[in-house]
Amino acid sequence: MKQITCYIDDKAVTVAEGTTLLNAARKAGIDIPNLCYDPRCAPIGACRLCLVEIEGQRGMQTSCTRIVEPDMRVATDTPKLNSQRKRTLELILSEHRFECGTCDTDGECRLQDYAYDFKVQENRIPHIESRVKTRNYTSGEKALIYDPTKCIRCGRCVAICAEVQGIETLTLRNRSGQVLVTTGFDVPLKESTCETCSQCISTCPTSALYERSAKFAGKLKDMNRVRTTCGYCGVGCQIDLNVHKKTGKIVRVTSEVGVVPNDGNLCVKGRFGMDFVGDSRRLTKPLIRTGERGDGAYREAEWDEALDLVASRLSKIKKEAGPDAIAGFSSARTTNEDNFVMQKFVRAAVGTNNVDHCARLCHSSTVAGLAKAFGSGAMTNSIAELSDTPLIFIIGSNTTECHPIIGINIRQAVQSGKSKLIVADPRRISIARSADIHMQQRSGSDVALINAMMHVILKEDLADRDFIASRTEGFEDLLPEIEGATPELAEKITSVPAETIRKAARMYATAESAAIIYSMGITQHACGTDNVLVLANLAMMTGNVGRRNAGVNPLRGQNNVQGACDMGALPNVYNGYQKVDDPKVQKKFETAWNTKLSNKPGLTVVEIMNGLESGKVRGLYVMGENPALSDPDTNHVLESLKKADFLVVQDIFMTETAELADVVLPAYSFAEKEGTFTNTERRVQRLRKAVTPPGEALEDWEIICRISLRMGYEMAYGNTEAIMKEIQSLTPSYGGITYKRIDKVGLQWPCPTEDHPGTPWLHEGTFARGLGKFHTAAYIPPREQADTAYPLVLTTGRQLEHWHTGTMTRKSVVLDDRVPHGVLELNPEDATRLGVADGEPVKVSSRRGEVTVPARVGDKTAPGTVFLVFHFKEHPANALTIAALDPVAKIPEFKACAVKVEKSS
Ligand code: SF4
Repeated sequence: MKQITCYIDDKAVTVAEGTTLLNAARKAGIDIPNLCYDPRCAPIGACRLCLVEIEGQRGMQTSCTRIVEPDMRVATDTPKLNSQRKRTLELILSEHRFECGTCDTDGECRLQDYAYDFKVQENRIPHIESRVKTRNYTSGEKALIYDPTKCIRCGRCVAICAEVQGIETLTLRNRSGQVLVTTGFDVPLKESTCETCSQCISTCPTSALYERSAKFAGKLKDMNRVRTTCGYCGVGCQIDLNVHKKTGKIVRVTSEVGVVPNDGNLCVKGRFGMDFVGDSRRLTKPLIRTGERGDGAYREAEWDEALDLVASRLSKIKKEAGPDAIAGFSSARTTNEDNFVMQKFVRAAVGTNNVDHCARLCHSSTVAGLAKAFGSGAMTNSIAELSDTPLIFIIGSNTTECHPIIGINIRQAVQSGKSKLIVADPRRISIARSADIHMQQRSGSDVALINAMMHVILKEDLADRDFIASRTEGFEDLLPEIEGATPELAEKITSVPAETIRKAARMYATAESAAIIYSMGITQHACGTDNVLVLANLAMMTGNVGRRNAGVNPLRGQNNVQGACDMGALPNVYNGYQKVDDPKVQKKFETAWNTKLSNKPGLTVVEIMNGLESGKVRGLYVMGENPALSDPDTNHVLESLKKADFLVVQDIFMTETAELADVVLPAYSFAEKEGTFTNTERRVQRLRKAVTPPGEALEDWEIICRISLRMGYEMAYGNTEAIMKEIQSLTPSYGGITYKRIDKVGLQWPCPTEDHPGTPWLHEGTFARGLGKFHTAAYIPPREQADTAYPLVLTTGRQLEHWHTGTMTRKSVVLDDRVPHGVLELNPEDATRLGVADGEPVKVSSRRGEVTVPARVGDKTAPGTVFLVFHFKEHPANALTIAALDPVAKIPEFKACAVKVEKSS
């Protein structure tokens, strides 16, 4: 990009063409006063504080809207400018209730700072008291509060709602001195399109918009602000927990603009979902079961007694039935360090590879499929690239709800015209409203859809033949399958019109660069690995992989599911995906860990459940997972867990799984921990202790180490950094990752050495496996089809306000207020046929179970398909789902099973 030099306050500044004067000045360390500027939004020049004088030009100009020109000479600090700024501030303050002493933002308010800097007296211009009397759109609202008497009408909240969040909920009402922020028709926030992201609070330069729960809960001087990583989804937003110095409680969550990956933006969970940390129901003491399994009878125990019991019972099972009779569930919620120690414990102390975690249930088909095609099963590109990728193809990902910050990046890119968007999803999800093309395929028909797109690409000669010839193998083998996969055949299978498939194929193949985004709509099928493989085929066929803006991007669900996989919490690989049955790898780890290790791949999550049922597995150690709600066919899971000889659960709450345990061990939450998480773009980021853990809770890794010692295998670490040093030494892709290097900004693996800058996109020049490999996959229907007894197809998933089994989000006042229960989404055609009205309770049954839940009638789902989230134990979706497994990845088919819906009596 062309560089331009200008002179600001006689200082030469060189910046890229198109830079504003305000930003050029910032680059030179000159802070021009401003109130309405937020770098996340387009500048509007409304507050008139950032005025500058430009040599040779008349009047004063707003530096936030003025673009730098070569040799421009600019003054930012003259008596004339400062006099004008003072007058402007006086006008602003005449309408602003000037009560800094009792204001929550006292000490971090730019208006207050400028008033002081420019010696503004509040009484020079008569104070304007009244505003129009209208209903305040935040009345009765639990999340936030709008105080019009503190509003300076800068318009930042309205701009961020439209430009960053992309929803245009907020608007300015009235004119002149009567301007107010409100919603369309002043409807209460909860009844509007608001997603409760509260970017409006984050941009408000005063405290006109503020978290309701944080009012009078402490000012800046009362807080410790601790930078850490959000503990919910795989985006890995950087958050600042504002912890009151006296109470030790989290008062509010803020985020710094300019910091990757979220640039100061948060979603409703990150902003309002932290109540669980200080919840009185946290586990605080070890518990030992005293009654029958599941009857709720427990007694508190000292740590030594509880740990002795765990170690002795596991050792007994090992002695009687061998190490393979024991299994461990690691956790995508806990840190890399916890996961590393857990898998090491299972392998080195117990002696089995029976260790797995919930990645099995969400992205094991990604790990298997992308490893086969590319040699590495992770997101190929970076989140930041999605802001200017020419073509984004989202398939099977409800991005705005499940990965909200990535969702808003994509919405912004489309709104700004930088990106075109294709969405393929069985539901009319919110991101589909921004799409150029939405293909509403039947659940489980993705292979047919993608094969048909490839058919069009080949027939219309849109493939990248050079890329295929130089970078891939196996292309010829693919051709017979693709030849027969016509769009007309796909239309019959998918219900997407053939012409729409053709348009989508052309748009994808002819884009300058195209990135595929997918998630569990692709992976959670009995053909999940095939789904991933055909997406890899599509990308390779068009040369859309291995460079910026072009790739295949699985969005990982939980905060550390990528890290838990990287750390080897999988039954067939050690950390860094090093195979347990490779003799060289086995030797390497035997030497490092000074013990004999098994070379037999272990059991997966569902296989472990089956093993408990059959008696093959007798002991199970669950860290931070809740299979009683999250696994498919939960009635079977509950029966299996009840059959365990010994079940130990380590968690922060008494989960539905913990209620069945023999011993329950209290652990730290993410806000109490040091360590690292790895987000969906492979970025390893720091987690920092912000609050004191409750009662006698301990770190997950420390509990495991204490049990391991009792079982005769010593694992001694002074702190999490010592664990990371061991990870670094044994994991080639983490070889250059140290706490020091990631103190401010995380690093993306592969990062093999301490001088390596990390890798924003994968497979540049060569694939991790050498040549990319095409794999042939034919359409196979879901295992269970709709029939006369069960005539509808159920698909399941998540929603914006809740997370996983609701253990954390359902303890948030705001989130629970927003969404207190689930609903069954039902198309009007089906609802009419069944005689079900919107909001009416319905009974949903499958061959495995039944739930009762209110219906929501609408056209989000197509006729014949219903949708239910799995967050609510009152109507657990997984009581209905089927445990049919993908033969390669062993992932269950959460996304399609046959159900019937009846009016609930
Ligand atoms: Fe947390 Fe994900 Fe929301 Fe970011 S997008 S605040 S990581 S839940």
